[in-house]
Amino acid sequence: MSLIRRNEPLDPVDLAAELIRRPSVTPKDEGAIPYLAGVLERLGFTCHTQEFTEPGTEPVLNLYARIGTGGRNLCFAGHTDVVPPGDLEAWSIAPFAGKIEGDALYGRGAADMKGAIACFAAATARFLAERGPGFDGSISLLITGDEEGVSINGTKKLLDWLAARGEMLDACIVGEPTNAKVLGDMVKIGRRGSMNGYLTVQGVQGHTAYPHLADNAAHRLVAMLHALTSAPLDEGTAHFQPSTLQIATIDIGNTAANVIPGAARATFNIRFNDRWSSATLKDWLRRTLDTAGGRYTLDFHVSGESFLTPPGEVSELLTRAVERVTGRKPELSTTGGTSDARFIHRYCPLAEFGLVGLTMHKVDERASLADIAGLTDIYHTVLDLYFPAS
Ligand SMILES: [Zn+2]
Repeated sequence: MSLIRRNEPLDPVDLAAELIRRPSVTPKDEGAIPYLAGVLERLGFTCHTQEFTEPGTEPVLNLYARIGTGGRNLCFAGHTDVVPPGDLEAWSIAPFAGKIEGDALYGRGAADMKGAIACFAAATARFLAERGPGFDGSISLLITGDEEGVSINGTKKLLDWLAARGEMLDACIVGEPTNAKVLGDMVKIGRRGSMNGYLTVQGVQGHTAYPHLADNAAHRLVAMLHALTSAPLDEGTAHFQPSTLQIATIDIGNTAANVIPGAARATFNIRFNDRWSSATLKDWLRRTLDTAGGRYTLDFHVSGESFLTPPGEVSELLTRAVERVTGRKPELSTTGGTSDARFIHRYCPLAEFGLVGLTMHKVDERASLADIAGLTDIYHTVLDLYFPAS
């Protein structure tokens, strides 16, 4: 692992700390994107700050920054918004202080993913300092402030805006904290899909002493949930874990022990692999519930379809860079939650690689200084490999 270099054109730890000090709890920006745009402009980027909104949502700031006008366009993608810090008292260092303690930078977003954005910028700064702005290619940053929230006014709209301008991306690296334990252990090449189901079962209310005059919704719900959970959804696929269905809550709210409930509700979440789409899952759910019998309504919220970007140029590029810098051969994985890669993969080949995810969304989120230096080296190596010096 390389040591932290001073005399860099841009220090990634300083930049990450500055970003952490702007408390951009989703969907607020609090100056994070304008600050980043200022840094990138000083490096020579042309920056387009885009605010998107629609009825019922808060406006969100987004940024597309590009340096270079020709050649292949390598895009670094990520988000400046962060999840709320939760109980402030529980943090050993204030979550928006952007402070170093021991060998780590602490703060909300240090790992997910202001740290990686700082590494994007620092790696590019080093590459430009070495190669000059006249290299044959383009480097861009696609940054949203709406990844941790509803993701309506973020990457999706920014990609539409790029398409409308005829702006092409040739390859993309998403800087989510993909590593499970140590820097270099995991590159993500796809994600499982995620869907919530909201099931309401209708019965007939009645007296528990006269069950023949009622239809117990609780019994029907239990039978339906048993049908949904009694067998695995699948055994997994070449690049994916088995799909899973987890019941999140069962709600009847009946306060009387002598009343048969007339309605019963449950919410469940399904994480699904590339054997399924949300449409085929909906079919399977309805068929399975119909077999169990009873009247019900079933509503859905699909937060993302599963997708796979088969191992290829970008994952190979990242693997080579990771091996060169860390000596580790990263696993190509599709585990974990979803990310904005679910939108970008339709535009260009991509893979995801960032910091270590152990503390993301937790109290005392942090990134080790060595990892920030190492990730900067990895992104810099990616740039060198993608744009070979002629
Ligand atoms: Zn993230």
